[in-house]
Amino acid sequence: MARVEFRNIKKSFGDVDVVKQFNFIVEDGEFVVFLGPSGCGKSTTLRMLAGLETITAGEIFIDDKLMNKVDAKDRDLAMVFQSYALYPHMTVYENIAFALKLKGFSKPAIDAEVQKAASMLELTPLLDRKPKELSGGQRQRVAMGRAMVRTPKVFLFDEPLSNLDAKLRGLMREEIKQLHKELKTTTIYVTHDQIEAMTLADRIVILKDGYVAQVGTPTEVFQRPTSKFVAQFIGSQAMNMLDATLIKQEDEYFIALGDTHIPLPERFKARASRNLALHLGIRPTDVHLRAEQIDHDRIMPIPATIKDKELLGASILLKTEVAGQELIAETHTAELESDHATLYLDLDAIHLFDVLSEKSLAS
Ligand code: ADP
Ligand code: MG
Repeated sequence: MARVEFRNIKKSFGDVDVVKQFNFIVEDGEFVVFLGPSGCGKSTTLRMLAGLETITAGEIFIDDKLMNKVDAKDRDLAMVFQSYALYPHMTVYENIAFALKLKGFSKPAIDAEVQKAASMLELTPLLDRKPKELSGGQRQRVAMGRAMVRTPKVFLFDEPLSNLDAKLRGLMREEIKQLHKELKTTTIYVTHDQIEAMTLADRIVILKDGYVAQVGTPTEVFQRPTSKFVAQFIGSQAMNMLDATLIKQEDEYFIALGDTHIPLPERFKARASRNLALHLGIRPTDVHLRAEQIDHDRIMPIPATIKDKELLGASILLKTEVAGQELIAETHTAELESDHATLYLDLDAIHLFDVLSEKSLAS
């Protein structure tokens, strides 16, 4: 197990800065996910830690030992990639055993380690097969087995589930989570998939264009996004964003959304100013059809026109129009008598972002 520190890490390819200034500490035993859209610098950051990419500036420490000049093979990390990179001519057993053989382990010692990993990953019946005789999920489990037997200080995963179908991804997520519970090895996991990040991470580092947009537990980044970018990146249905303006009437602030004036909740008051252009964010699950679904002191009724309905299975997405803008509500009831309705916003669940900085107004 180990603690990993990135200190003022920068990476440029030519004159393009792809990692701008990365400061982060992964605590011993922690499961950290680097999450962000494609091209934001996740793999590059991971590869600098693994020693597969040179570091333009800054320092990387593992257990307070400077790694910048340490050879990749001496860093004691094990990496699992999207492409499983198994040796095609070797059996599952030989693939898993390979690193131990190189290290000069005895045959019985190798066997004990391989059997242990195979049993944890449910690969025991497959040990004699070649990679081409395995499904995608099984191949990825072999790749994990190969990483596990090395008992590395840190596990690195780079989009390991991207080649698998949705159902298998769900199962493998569970297995990776279980494995971390058992082994407690410090883990850094790179993905562009917010569901993977939310289900696996102790903490998520959300990256955008080479810098850190936010760091937090899954609950923190979901409930208290500090920017419009994070608000819209996290969540299975994207957060609604409505254009609104902050106005002041008789010393009280209101959020003007068309003709509706919403009293400004306390948490936004410290950063309020008159005529500020805002994005009002609200998740589809926080837009309700019935007032009784919200405590009466934090209800905001708002006139809406229902435009369309989309059945998702257990829930329904209602596409509505509010003050000339689209607002999506995710609900379990489709009982609407007409196309005109009143929707109810939960004031505890609204987010406000300054249009210029795209930063949250909440304090
Ligand atoms: P991510 O893993 O977040 O999708 P990467 O870390 O792979 O992103 O890449 C970050 C940026 O760096 C991208 O714009 C990519 O095109 C660029 N990049 C990555 N590797 C190289 C390279 N060897 N040479 C030039 N540009 C690169
Ligand atoms: Mg990548």
